[in-house]
Amino acid sequence: MPAFSACLTQKTLAQVQDSMIDVLLCNASVQDGTGVQDFAVDQGKLVARGVKLDYPAVLKIDLQGRLLIPGFVESHVHLDIALMNDWDHPGRPKPFRSPAELNQAVEQRRKSFTCQDIELRASRAVELASRHGVTAMRAQCHIDPEVGLHHLEALVAVREKYRDRITLQIVAFPQQGLFSRPGSLDLFIDAFRRGADVMGCASNLERGQGVSFREHIDAALDLAMEIDVDLDLHADLGIPPVVGLEDLEVVHTARRVIERGYQGRVTAGHVCALDSAPPEVAEEAIALIQEAQISVISQPDMYRLGREDTWHVRRGLTRVRQLLAAGINVAYASNNVRDAYRPMGNFDLLEEGEILAYGAHMDSVEELETLLKMCTYNAARLMRLEGYGLQPGCQADLVVLDALSPSAAIVGQAEKLYVFKSGRLVAQNLRTSQLFSHPVPVQG
Ligand SMILES: [Zn+2]
Repeated sequence: MPAFSACLTQKTLAQVQDSMIDVLLCNASVQDGTGVQDFAVDQGKLVARGVKLDYPAVLKIDLQGRLLIPGFVESHVHLDIALMNDWDHPGRPKPFRSPAELNQAVEQRRKSFTCQDIELRASRAVELASRHGVTAMRAQCHIDPEVGLHHLEALVAVREKYRDRITLQIVAFPQQGLFSRPGSLDLFIDAFRRGADVMGCASNLERGQGVSFREHIDAALDLAMEIDVDLDLHADLGIPPVVGLEDLEVVHTARRVIERGYQGRVTAGHVCALDSAPPEVAEEAIALIQEAQISVISQPDMYRLGREDTWHVRRGLTRVRQLLAAGINVAYASNNVRDAYRPMGNFDLLEEGEILAYGAHMDSVEELETLLKMCTYNAARLMRLEGYGLQPGCQADLVVLDALSPSAAIVGQAEKLYVFKSGRLVAQNLRTSQLFSHPVPVQG
């Protein structure tokens, strides 16, 4: 691939008056099959796209057919506990034993997290995500009567600090459940006054404490509807040998959403147990998810689940391909990055996409294209981001990939050459290597 050229000049007042635009990206490939085009950006928005646009621009880049996509959208990540492992020695400090031990490890640490510590780690995480082309993120945030709202305070500060780099939605995540500690529900109402955007839900955290998953989900949905915010569930996190329709949290949620008319406002993450349902049960469940317009996020559950299997180890993923085939909005996300739950991850959605390609058996050119849409358009849809995309008038949140096609981007783990947020260049990455035709002597 030939070298591409970028030309940067200083925009003067006269040039502004002469209608010089901010950025012109020439000869970009796009995913919608419309061929190579130019994209004009000004004042934070895409203002035009077409063949051979003739605008003077402060920054003009000839992409020579490289792929232009709207910014990556990290739709489910635990930002407040991210990067809690040793940065220079990533990996699990102790061997993985059981999911219960993972919860305990976070419990032990989170009580000692200070606002400043959370802010520092979350800042580093946002910068890493931005380097990988993420322009919007939905962050789960621990809230419970023991830690109060200080995780939220830290993430609100990070949202403000990086508002020119990333759009951050904060999910009020009930780390200790909604009923098992007195005052939890009031705390959540307060969280929405202090900057939370989305109601969280995780009935597994109250299992064994006399609270059914139905009670937990109903309470979370009630609260979301009362405050008029979206609901984002952790649903069906396990993989029992077999489940019936009535065992599925996502089925109960779908029925409630339909009854109460909250379609299009709910997202369910994980949904692993759907894979434990016999095919005819899964089909019925998927029809309900579709009717309720619930979005589904697949996460790296392949890492977390199947640990107790000594042979025929189960993947633990939801039925990604069947959900997509049914027309459900399906995305994928990192969930946990270098924390007690998962010691890997880089907020890199091309990397997560390749992992899902293996796990969900998505390997055709068309399926690899779908994967790229899942972490961009589909994730943006569930976050209900306004002005997302590549049409004139959209927010200029853009990534240039060093690849000519979506499948080449995922299989080749393409570098994110340029990252723009609201039309401003926020990251530039180069990957260099040199192959020598003859060994180069090293001078002593
Ligand atoms: Zn999660």
